[in-house]
Amino acid sequence: MFILDDYGLPKLGATGLDGALSEEQGAVQDNLRRFAREVMRPAGRALDTLSAADSIAPGSPLWGYITAFRDAGILDMEALAGMSPAQKAQMVPLIFEELGWGDCGLGLLGLVQAFPAFAAYMSGDSELIERFGSSIGCWVGTQPERGSDLVDMDTTELHPGSRQGAGNLTAKIEGERVVFNGQTSAWVSGAPIAQAGYVFCQCDYGDGFWNAKGGMNYIAALVPFDLPGISKGQPLEKLGQRPLPQGQVFFDGVSIPQKYVVAGREQAYPAFLGALTFGNMEMAFTFTGVARAAFEHALAYVHERRQGGCALIEHQSVRLRLFDMWRKLEAARALARRVADYNFGPHGPHLLASITSKTYVTQAAFEVADEAVQLLGGNGLTREYPVEKLFRDARAALIEDGENNLLSLKGASYLSAWFKAGQ
Ligand SMILES: Cc1cc2nc3c(=O)[nH]c(=O)nc-3n(C[C@H](O)[C@H](O)[C@H](O)COP(=O)(O)OP(=O)(O)OC[C@H]3O[C@@H](n4cnc5c(N)ncnc54)[C@H](O)[C@@H]3O)c2cc1C
Repeated sequence: MFILDDYGLPKLGATGLDGALSEEQGAVQDNLRRFAREVMRPAGRALDTLSAADSIAPGSPLWGYITAFRDAGILDMEALAGMSPAQKAQMVPLIFEELGWGDCGLGLLGLVQAFPAFAAYMSGDSELIERFGSSIGCWVGTQPERGSDLVDMDTTELHPGSRQGAGNLTAKIEGERVVFNGQTSAWVSGAPIAQAGYVFCQCDYGDGFWNAKGGMNYIAALVPFDLPGISKGQPLEKLGQRPLPQGQVFFDGVSIPQKYVVAGREQAYPAFLGALTFGNMEMAFTFTGVARAAFEHALAYVHERRQGGCALIEHQSVRLRLFDMWRKLEAARALARRVADYNFGPHGPHLLASITSKTYVTQAAFEVADEAVQLLGGNGLTREYPVEKLFRDARAALIEDGENNLLSLKGASYLSAWFKAGQ
């Protein structure tokens, strides 16, 4: 049992029921919260009201944000690379929760725009670092006819007797060059402003696109967007995460040297899994931040707003609803961090772990934001109060980085395969 001398109010940090954060963790969290409050939230609110075209036009707050994000050194590749796995497991969740708390769309933009640069640095190749190391980037995966089929690359959810569609973006090896033709989906985050892409697509290595399992052969490559044959579609108008610009990229005979290939035939699938496993894990940190923002707004509001002769918080049913939000938030954060421990630990990483936290946390964030709207009554529906935007932002996350039902099916397939392997 606990022996207590004194019993006062709970000590809660910004991230709730945290035990002791180290001095370094506390400092990182404080700095990022300031950045999130002073830079991300005003930029995110302003961008949310602009048309998709205006939000990427010269003079848009987006550009100031991108500069501030880079100047603040938030995704300092060298610092992150120098951390031990245990440090990463602690630091990465803290960083992305604060960014999600500030503005999830802008936080995610900060991540995806670094994908090509990250791949270049990981290669250690000075030519790639020179070409892509400071580019604004994006991650090209989905195509108009390949959404969930991309996520289900290992075809565990394929209908019996069928095979995946050919898709809309292909690469072909032509001597020492790789040539791309086709288009991406309209959902590529950061595409409208990107100078380069980490492109993942079907590839003909000389023996066609399909493999024996009904899936496809793939390639992952870095593609500069200043090459002849690249063009872009209109930026996408969408519900939620509007500060995150999205759009199509078209490829018309775009030719790159084989040197820009990050992962060929055998390595392409693991490279994709690496990106999806990190992405799903990261989504859980970001949307813990969204859930926290919605909870905090609701907590403040129910102490201010009076109905039934008292502040809303004095009504017992309101207190129960608020506590349910809190519990979901704490459970979401705990699971997100547990998955970080697993993925950076000796048994990880694995997509099963990341799917577990991504699907749970985004659903929890959506439910918390939904209840926040409800607790604010009519005000919750207006743009004057932040919960309306948080609700839309959280809604998009149920589809982003893999639709949650499809991801859950894949999670179940992993569990079943693991169980059968032990029989
Ligand atoms: C905010 C946001 C950001 C994004 N960012 C990027 C990005 O940066 N880069 C990128 O490439 N893409 C990006 N995407 C695309 C995203 O990965 C896809 O939207 C997602 O994978 C779902 O694909 P889809 O929209 O084509 O839906 P579909 O695949 O058409 O799915 C529609 C419905 O059918 C169900 N379904 C599909 N297949 C199966 C099956 N085999 N079994 C059972 N049910 C099935 C799904 O569960 C879903 O409910 C983003 C999307 C969003 C919303």
